[in-house]
Amino acid sequence: MKTVKTKDELRQALASQRGTTIGLVPTMGYLHAGHLSLIERARQECGCVVASIFVNPLQFGPQEDFATYPRDLERDAMLAKEAGVDILFAPSTDEMYPEPPLTNVTVSSITEILCGASRPGHFDGVGTVVTKLFNLVQPQRAYFGLKDIQQVAVIQRMTTDLDFPVTIVPCSTVREADGLAMSSRNVHLSAEERSQATILYRALTTGKQRVLSGEWLTGDEVEHHLKEMIASQPLAEIDYVNILTFPELEPVSHIAERQYVIALAVRIGKTRLIDNMLIRKEAGHVPQHDEG
Ligand code: AMP
Repeated sequence: MKTVKTKDELRQALASQRGTTIGLVPTMGYLHAGHLSLIERARQECGCVVASIFVNPLQFGPQEDFATYPRDLERDAMLAKEAGVDILFAPSTDEMYPEPPLTNVTVSSITEILCGASRPGHFDGVGTVVTKLFNLVQPQRAYFGLKDIQQVAVIQRMTTDLDFPVTIVPCSTVREADGLAMSSRNVHLSAEERSQATILYRALTTGKQRVLSGEWLTGDEVEHHLKEMIASQPLAEIDYVNILTFPELEPVSHIAERQYVIALAVRIGKTRLIDNMLIRKEAGHVPQHDEG
């Protein structure tokens, strides 16, 4: 594995790889098994795997956790190498943004809900940095986790709208044994917070079961019951709890036979966690007890 810190070094390292399928895995580092599953998938499907590690200031609001976001490049490089990365791109902020950019990539409409509503400007930062990475790496395939399902929708739409010649590959969410979605931010949770954080997955599986069994019939019912369930944890402060159609991300009045996503953002203590679950409601569906 070659680690490069500048755009020039990256271009040089890629020059000899242009004949092969290049796969890009963009990350903010502090790698965990979720990131590694994206890298492993890219390894299976591509001749050259590029992973980037860059905590992108553009996608953090002024009151958010840019300064305290966990970082450990040495450990990340070891894990990336083991997982099969060929080129690790770890630029500084100055290297990525020698000047504050005057050009931003904004995806409208689907960024006005969920995390876009509670984190103004967040998806402009994501769209802009991913555009820069697509231009620098020019990958054929790019891997994104469904844990950030709105991000997948935004990147997919941006790629289609702007004709980037890249296939977006959505990858399943990797979870801890008790269901908590892996996240670099989990490291900030105290023991008590970690234990209460399992409410996100428990709420999602309950929501899925009740929708599939026909017990909850409207979007309002789903959101109301799940908010109650999450609020029962003293350290949980709800940002949003939404059931939306998928992939359109439109509000749901009455549950019909189609695909939905339940998406949550919940602050546990000072740490904001997100998670989601897809639900396919089909005619005559009888849920299995282990479904989730
Ligand atoms: P991040 O470093 O949090 O920006 O994440 C980098 C990429 O890894 C994004 O595409 C995320 O959606 C993905 N990712 C983060 N956590 C997980 C997880 N638990 N399972 C699968 N993919 C994940």
